[in-house]
Amino acid sequence: MSCIEPSRLPANAGPAAPVDHNEFAAMQPRAPAPTPAERRNGARVKSADERPNGVYLPNNNLLAPHMRSPEYVQLSTAAAMTLGIMPGRMHRCGCTRCLNLLLTYPEGCRANCAYCGLARHREAERDYADRNFIRVDWPAVPLDRVIDIVARDPAASPFHRMCISMITHPRSDADTVAVLEAWTRRIDPGAIPVSILSNPTTMERADVVRLKDLGAEIFTVALDAATPAIFERTRGKGVQSPHKWEKYWEILLAARDVFGPRRFGAHVIIGMGETEAEALALVQRIVDLGGHSHLFCFFPERGSLMDHLPATPRDQWRRVQLARYLIDYAGARVERMRFDEQGRVVDYGVPAGELDRIVREGVAFRTSGCPGKFRDDVSACDRPYGDSPPSDIASYPFQPNARDLQRIRRQLGVRARDAEEA
Ligand code: SF4
Repeated sequence: MSCIEPSRLPANAGPAAPVDHNEFAAMQPRAPAPTPAERRNGARVKSADERPNGVYLPNNNLLAPHMRSPEYVQLSTAAAMTLGIMPGRMHRCGCTRCLNLLLTYPEGCRANCAYCGLARHREAERDYADRNFIRVDWPAVPLDRVIDIVARDPAASPFHRMCISMITHPRSDADTVAVLEAWTRRIDPGAIPVSILSNPTTMERADVVRLKDLGAEIFTVALDAATPAIFERTRGKGVQSPHKWEKYWEILLAARDVFGPRRFGAHVIIGMGETEAEALALVQRIVDLGGHSHLFCFFPERGSLMDHLPATPRDQWRRVQLARYLIDYAGARVERMRFDEQGRVVDYGVPAGELDRIVREGVAFRTSGCPGKFRDDVSACDRPYGDSPPSDIASYPFQPNARDLQRIRRQLGVRARDAEEA
């Protein structure tokens, strides 16, 4: 028998945390600098007009060749290693369970999101194919080569899911369809289900319907910002970026109608200035609509307009991560949680024994995302070290062990009374 004390602030966050949450006023992005004309829209790459030749490893070439979807896609480093396209090993992970196919163009993403390594302002200093994204490099690979490898034996593939990740580009809608059709021609989506990480800015409801009809199982919308004000300053006019909160919600609601319960979701980055109460109200709203939220811990991406800002303190992150799991999978409700005057969780609104069981189980602290083949609350999309370094893991891409759980408890400020964990 063990139990934990319900979290009461001030939490014992440990000595490493100078602040215990990222406040709105402190999380202002830099203004983007103007890009010289000769670097705009992939001009440097397009004027050189080098033909692509096989796999392109970022930073290995002085000039990114002229690669575009649907012939080319980019893969996370973890996916490239799992496919055997890149050498290397991941800290404490044998493989990734999600194959993310990121659309790619020499012009890159035409949006300018402040936290993102792919943002448009980076064309001043880096060709698109050489940009880091969620902390890692994304090699560009011919789509046919990826499909050839997986199609050899889809049922035995380490991948539990494939996800087409759109960016903001005039070709993005059509090329998402082309990639999905190329994939499903050779690989049964029953063997490896497909998710779409959408770009609502360029989409209409008919696009959502079409992707469902072509075999996509889950449709997600990267809201990323938890409130309209944060959205505006990190993805909208605040950084000369085209996105609109209302348009993202229009497509999210279309996804609910078209894909149905538990087949749609929203990405939310925690720690960009929202309060914990605001983040969890959004999580509850998405659950009440029938969907799931997939959380990311804010990390100052190198080269982004927020790379000077602090990563989300671990105690803030753990509280939101735990509360989100309780809402998404354990029947908790935000109205039954209690928050302090700064919007921090002080009571999760569930019995202490239940909270203890869920913390002890550890699944709440794994990466959240679309499900794989193990269980509904274990994401295929494990994104190894996409939101933290291995030395200070935010989203665990594997099952946390007893030592990890000790650390998590310290970060949460909850005490284990059980001798084997204390
Ligand atoms: S739309 Fe997506 S890929 Fe493009 S800058 Fe924004 S977050 Fe990055």
